[in-house]
Amino acid sequence: MMGISIMTPSHAAERIASFGKSMFDRGLTAGTSGNISMRIEGGWLMTPTNSSLGELDPGAMSRLDAAGKLIGGQAPTKEAFLHRAMYEMRSDCGAVVHLHSAHAVAVSCLADIDAGNVLPPITAYYAMKIGTLPLIPYFKPGDLELADAVRALAGKHHAVLLANHRPVVAGTSIEAAVAAVEELEETAKLFLLLQGHRVRYLTDAQLEELGISRSR
Ligand SMILES: [Zn+2]
Repeated sequence: MMGISIMTPSHAAERIASFGKSMFDRGLTAGTSGNISMRIEGGWLMTPTNSSLGELDPGAMSRLDAAGKLIGGQAPTKEAFLHRAMYEMRSDCGAVVHLHSAHAVAVSCLADIDAGNVLPPITAYYAMKIGTLPLIPYFKPGDLELADAVRALAGKHHAVLLANHRPVVAGTSIEAAVAAVEELEETAKLFLLLQGHRVRYLTDAQLEELGISRSR
């Protein structure tokens, strides 16, 4: 597992709680929406079901073994299967953030978006942190077919957008996953602000300069 530093469960729980609070306090996810997980020795830590990211108790964090069985803390988020699908397909995945952030959701509901790559390269930072963002079709909450749909794309993409729902973003660390999901939300906001305007996106040559190829 190249590039992943595995933390102790208690340290990981503290990191999840502090990133959760930071995102909640800045309005990036509301109510009890959004969930975060981290890889730890022999399994994962996940935010519990029906918990607010603003008030996470590190001691109550759900602890799952390598088979996904709950071995400590409260029952995990009902969307645990989304996180598992990302980890399964990405050996470099140290953390997953699934944020219910308003602008990304708004973009996921637009009728005429390119499902192969939802957001254009508006800024270099977005292009470097996310690159391409495929859209996964709508499934009803808890539908396990959604996990298959995520699995199908997660090998190639560390970020996916679920139609009429929210983004799921993986990172080698929780810092990387949070930074990427925030960049995605910010870019979704810009994309909406630019609707109806004539826009210059980064060109293929400018993307190439960043080491990014437009091919999917
Ligand atoms: Zn969700």
